[in-house]
Amino acid sequence: MTPSSSVSCCGPEAPADNFRHDWTREEVEALFARPFADLMFDAQTLHRQNFDANKVQLSQLLSIKTGGCPEDCKYCPQSALYDTQVKAEKLMDVQAVLKVAESAKAAGATRFCMGAAWRSPKDRDLEKVCEMIEGVKAMGLESCVTLGMLGETQAQRLKVAGLDYYNHNIDTSPEYYKEIITTRTYDDRLETLQNVRDAGINVCCGGIVGMGEDRSDRAGMLITLANMPKHPESVPINMLVQVEGTPLDHENQMDALEFVRTIAVARILMPASFVRLSAGREDMSDETQALCFLAGANSIFYGETLLTTPNPAQNNDTALFARLGITAA
Ligand code: SF4
Repeated sequence: MTPSSSVSCCGPEAPADNFRHDWTREEVEALFARPFADLMFDAQTLHRQNFDANKVQLSQLLSIKTGGCPEDCKYCPQSALYDTQVKAEKLMDVQAVLKVAESAKAAGATRFCMGAAWRSPKDRDLEKVCEMIEGVKAMGLESCVTLGMLGETQAQRLKVAGLDYYNHNIDTSPEYYKEIITTRTYDDRLETLQNVRDAGINVCCGGIVGMGEDRSDRAGMLITLANMPKHPESVPINMLVQVEGTPLDHENQMDALEFVRTIAVARILMPASFVRLSAGREDMSDETQALCFLAGANSIFYGETLLTTPNPAQNNDTALFARLGITAA
């Protein structure tokens, strides 16, 4: 049994839209293998049927509790198991978080995402996060948090606080997952996603490429997302950022055009989801990013740092958007 086969996130509920939820590995690998121009044309056509092709949504991400995480995700400098430059910090004060959210709004962000390096949140910490969510919502921003594994009651509590999105990535294919994380299972992740869905919160779920996986794993990751009864509303696709001290430092750099293909296939499989260019943009040329937008990416993280890794400076993004005629959604 594959890890994903026993959890109701991919279970028998009726699909909530007219999109396909029954992709096979062969079909998706065949999409990946198409001539580049054909793949891009199909992705762009579907993109235009569902979105304004010249608009990109901006989210800003803040690490509200950094480092000291007990999990062993091999890409992550926040794991306490690896010797990296990241130092463990306590949960930020609510007012300090809201100050950053105000600046994010002033800089054009429409969604404010808060990330905490926990295996799962303790109830007293969850209450503080709920205060942050309420403050962010009061500013007119959409709210998103990523706090690790979530139980049913915790998801319901976040919904009451007004949370719009919960981020929890599947990271990679069910088959490759054990090469990357051993301290929680693929099914644990799917269960959290189900709890989030059941609470009526939008799902933000994607993964990371460039971790030594092969194309079949990239296909497997996208199939897991696309075959959920409802596609995640946001699908962040991260390019591995290699960080000294993590086991995936010195991994072979992924081909940029293969990354663009991954974005295009994500767009074809999940036509109405926001596909977000996430970590790794700092290392991408403007030309690669332009191809990603053409392939259907329509959301980015804005701001100079992601949780703990660098992101292009805001003025670089503004200049790139101007060159491409893109405006913020
Ligand atoms: S990715 Fe998240 S869960 Fe994994 S080690 Fe980093 S902070 Fe912890």
